[in-house]
Amino acid sequence: MNNKQTDLLSFDQQHVWHPYTSMSEPLPSYLVESAEGVYINLASGEKLVDGMASWWSVLHGYNHPKLNAALIEQSQKVSHVMFGGLTHEPAINLCKTLIEISPAPLQKVFLSDSGSVAVEVAIKMAFQYWISKGKAHKNKLLTVKNGYHGDTFATMAVCDPVTGMHHMFEQVLSKHYFAPAPQTKIDQPWQVGDIVELEQLFSSRHQNIAAFIIEPIVQGTGGMRMYHPEYLKACRALCTKYDVLFIADEIATGLGRTGKMFACEWADISPDIMCLGKTLTGGYITLAATLCTADIAEVISKGEAGCFMHGPTFMGNPLACAVANASLLLLLEGNWQQQVNAIELYLSTNLLPLSQHQRVHDTRVLGSIGVVETTQNVNMANIQKRFVELGVWIRPFGKLIYIMPPYVTTNDQLSILIAAIITVLDEDECFIDDCFID
Ligand SMILES: *Cc1c(COP(=O)(O)O)cnc(C)c1O
Repeated sequence: MNNKQTDLLSFDQQHVWHPYTSMSEPLPSYLVESAEGVYINLASGEKLVDGMASWWSVLHGYNHPKLNAALIEQSQKVSHVMFGGLTHEPAINLCKTLIEISPAPLQKVFLSDSGSVAVEVAIKMAFQYWISKGKAHKNKLLTVKNGYHGDTFATMAVCDPVTGMHHMFEQVLSKHYFAPAPQTKIDQPWQVGDIVELEQLFSSRHQNIAAFIIEPIVQGTGGMRMYHPEYLKACRALCTKYDVLFIADEIATGLGRTGKMFACEWADISPDIMCLGKTLTGGYITLAATLCTADIAEVISKGEAGCFMHGPTFMGNPLACAVANASLLLLLEGNWQQQVNAIELYLSTNLLPLSQHQRVHDTRVLGSIGVVETTQNVNMANIQKRFVELGVWIRPFGKLIYIMPPYVTTNDQLSILIAAIITVLDEDECFIDDCFID
């Protein structure tokens, strides 16, 4: 690396927060020069196959000519205007497409800046719906353990209590109801008992519950767990039976990632409110959407406030909407289903068998998501360094080494990702020996 690059990294280390990273003893960050297709190019010269899709978001690859063109064209018209009292074609077209491709009852779209905000909006919609109906006592949420719904306060309160450190934030987080995480895996025979505790919570607490929130089929950041569609079906039935709104957080799963356009389709259900984020602009700019039914919108709008009480400054940002439209067009006119199926087939053949490795507890694959759960925690600094040396960008956490590459990833590129995982599994320095920690 040259002097300028060293200076940049040194400033970064001293002054710039990174996600879930210590400021006093930060792990190294790698300086990115550019990215193209499925490759991330580091300033130090390495060219890495991206296994993370920049946290689920990249679908068609980096630096895509059509997505670039959409941004450039839109920037020459208008990059941003306020959405209060003004509207524009990029936002209108985006909402039209989202309504077309999402489950039929979802008819109204609220655009916002990020996944966490989309979930905040969903939660606020649910509360305002019940307040407007004169049932303000329905002011709790119900969810399952191992969930992840964002980093803001309302969303943190429905994240997994352990990984979300609820005990540390006890004084600041709202208290909600938690059922055990779904146990029946997607490929196992359905166990009816899986739903018992959840049903008990519905039956005993429904009078106070505004909404049930869950990530359909795949619990992502809270453990990369893939659960049975019958569980999701039962959730829908319980919500209907007990008059509780159903919020599907499709921020990670939406737009094809699991092999269905929306993960809700695995159970053939429709939520009352659905959140989209991560994948919405194909990984280009932050944008999120919260969709709801006509009934929810109507009840809220006819309530005391006369409107939904939310309105972000950058709501409906034209640049973000334009690139989202271009990305959705690529998705809908392209062969995402074959791409995701091909990735699933390759991962099933080549990643699932790693379960035989003595350092591996479990492997699982769904759509373009592949997970290797190890028996020991990874040593982040060492494993990250080794992955970079091996030409891949994979960022594990805890005992989870997982990939969800862009849909355009080829078998050759997947083989590089898997070869790197196989290599590090044999390297002691990439793992923490549990015997030495107490
Ligand atoms: C990432 C994620 C969020 C939060 O999105 P941000 O854009 O990071 O705020 C919420 N829910 C799920 C399921 C996610 O994967």
